[in-house]
Amino acid sequence: MIHLLAPLPYAADALEPHVDARTMTLHHDMHHAAYVKAINTVLSAAPDELKDKTPEWLMSNLSQAPLAIRAEIGHQAGGHLNHSLLWANMSPRGGGTPDGALAAAISRDFDNIETFQSKFEQAGAKHFGAGWVWLVVGPSPQLNLHILTTNEHDNPLTEGYQPLLVNDVWEHAYYLKHENRRPDYLHGWWAVVDWKAVEERFANAVSAAQNADGPRGEAAIALNAVH
Ligand code: MN
Repeated sequence: MIHLLAPLPYAADALEPHVDARTMTLHHDMHHAAYVKAINTVLSAAPDELKDKTPEWLMSNLSQAPLAIRAEIGHQAGGHLNHSLLWANMSPRGGGTPDGALAAAISRDFDNIETFQSKFEQAGAKHFGAGWVWLVVGPSPQLNLHILTTNEHDNPLTEGYQPLLVNDVWEHAYYLKHENRRPDYLHGWWAVVDWKAVEERFANAVSAAQNADGPRGEAAIALNAVH
């Protein structure tokens, strides 16, 4: 398959002032575009069985890539996938708080939404160097929520977690607007988080865990209820 750069799902200035238009344009049109170009280049020299795989598959199955190109696939497929996830979990109609099953799971695992948001911000602010901060579920068939950070363009799929929500803490994501104030960027960013998209990702992850293997799925839910 040829990996393609999808257009942003909103105008470059739609998330102002939390994500400024100049940062959004550079981030999508230059940074993300470069990862898309690079994953196509690295896969052109990869074994045929890797050529038709999605970024999700590649990051979930990195160990199947030849060692000589494994790190490069991780950098470039991760750069492509992580940015695609980021654009999709932001919206000019974002903000507020989650509802339904996701809200209940956040309350179960982090006490309440405010505590979750505070811990997510702290994890992102403290992450050393370039990387990403995530809300994930798993690893399957477990359905616990966790906050993780990853280095560079690593993705939690590689460790068996399903990403639900992600923010980019590379300096290119915020420095033009927020300079060295990464905590301010993380704190203001909740205003553009599309919780409906996150709820949908959670519902899909729960459904996949339950359908993968009936008895284990049921056991995972019972186990979680103990915590
Ligand atoms: Mn980025």
